[in-house]
Amino acid sequence: MPELPEVEMARRYLDATALHQPIHRVTVKHQRILGNVSAARLRERLVGKEFSESTRHGKYLFARTGEGWLVFHFGMTGRLAYFKSMDKEPEHDSLLFSFANGYHLSYDCQRLLGRINWAESVESFIAQRQLGPDALRVSQEDFVERLGGKRGMVKSALMDQHAIAGIGNIYSDEILFQMDIHPQTGAHRLDRSVWQEMHGVAQDILREAIRRRAEPDDFPDSFLIPRREEGERCPRDGASLQRVRVSGRSAYFCPRHQKKM
Ligand SMILES: [Zn+2]
Repeated sequence: MPELPEVEMARRYLDATALHQPIHRVTVKHQRILGNVSAARLRERLVGKEFSESTRHGKYLFARTGEGWLVFHFGMTGRLAYFKSMDKEPEHDSLLFSFANGYHLSYDCQRLLGRINWAESVESFIAQRQLGPDALRVSQEDFVERLGGKRGMVKSALMDQHAIAGIGNIYSDEILFQMDIHPQTGAHRLDRSVWQEMHGVAQDILREAIRRRAEPDDFPDSFLIPRREEGERCPRDGASLQRVRVSGRSAYFCPRHQKKM
């Protein structure tokens, strides 16, 4: 599932391909991916305009067009693809932007869990969705304040988009792996100094993932993510990785160096 690093790569991809090109046609292939905007309204707002800039907040990608912003959320399987010949159209093309230059940008979403919304401003969208600050921009003080006092498990706290936006199931596992913390540890049991350290560790992990283009195969050998499967071994101490359920999601951890407190 696309989390902050994957969405940041999508933002850069949009910038490198589709920015500043007049939009000639908008084709909605699956109505289900439309959130607060109808296909007709989308066409009305986009045709003849262009994407003039982009930004990201947490797992949301914003592309400005004229007086508003198109907001992409990628769900479990969403991605962008830019191509010229329709032979290259992705199999699960859900929304297609066709540009005056003959190229197309597809929002491809196999499981149709992603959503396209329209926002008057980035700030209003963040406020309406009650999203916390972006995980890469949040200050240490704010991070500690927002997560330190939470009830429930530490992994759930990290994944709560209302607290901090951008970290999901995969990257929360990596953060806890590198912090030597069991994912089912109560958030309130961690000292302030641990949360302070976690702020830096989380940002280092997210930055490193972006530097490696969010390609797990290119991640450092010390990372959990490329080995995040049952039966795999901890890259630090060789123990067999284990899986537990946290907030309905599968958490992977090393039973040897992430002891339950
Ligand atoms: Zn280990």
